[in-house]
Amino acid sequence: MSKTTNSKIAIEETPELSIPDTEGSGNIAALVRQMIVQLGEDPNREGLRRTPERFEKALRYLTSGYRQDPAKILNGAMFSVTYDEMVVVKDIEVYSLCEHHLLPFFGKCHVAYIPNKKVVGLSKIARLVNMYARRLQIQERLTSQIAQTLEDQLSPQGVGVIVEARHLCMVMRGVEKQNSAAMTSAMLGVFRESKQTRDEFLSLIRGGK
Ligand SMILES: [Zn+2]
Repeated sequence: MSKTTNSKIAIEETPELSIPDTEGSGNIAALVRQMIVQLGEDPNREGLRRTPERFEKALRYLTSGYRQDPAKILNGAMFSVTYDEMVVVKDIEVYSLCEHHLLPFFGKCHVAYIPNKKVVGLSKIARLVNMYARRLQIQERLTSQIAQTLEDQLSPQGVGVIVEARHLCMVMRGVEKQNSAAMTSAMLGVFRESKQTRDEFLSLIRGGK
């Protein structure tokens, strides 16, 4: 399976700001306890007794990206340069939750940009990917949010983002072939306009593995 998206596709936005980490603490656990009952299980048996609290804690961590601000992640790590060659960060591990099934999808993200007098610390790019991945997501939106944020914050000559991921909602349910991965890409600026730039990006992420 292969899909391509670009920033021109209108994708429903996720809220930037949300409730603090601890608000309503315990509410999710109570719901999970009810869910376990609905599934016909006994929430009081030993293995399940603390599962609701564990699940809530895990879910709050996996959605902690709602409580982070992309500008804050990148600010303070931007530097002025004269460098104007492509910067590529490849094979960033991505773990996210599909918003349609609340099941994980995971894989790799590759990010490239061509600076326009400004670069950002490389580790911040991975943090930005994590921030958007730790929300309820669809792969298309995750991909375009990463690209658009770099575009907004760095005003580069162009930015390209590719995400390849396997979705447990597909592979565990046998909806698609078990090894299928979805690919999404967002190309802005010179990455959209120039095939040569896109090809350079692709050869840099495919080569040297
Ligand atoms: Zn799904």
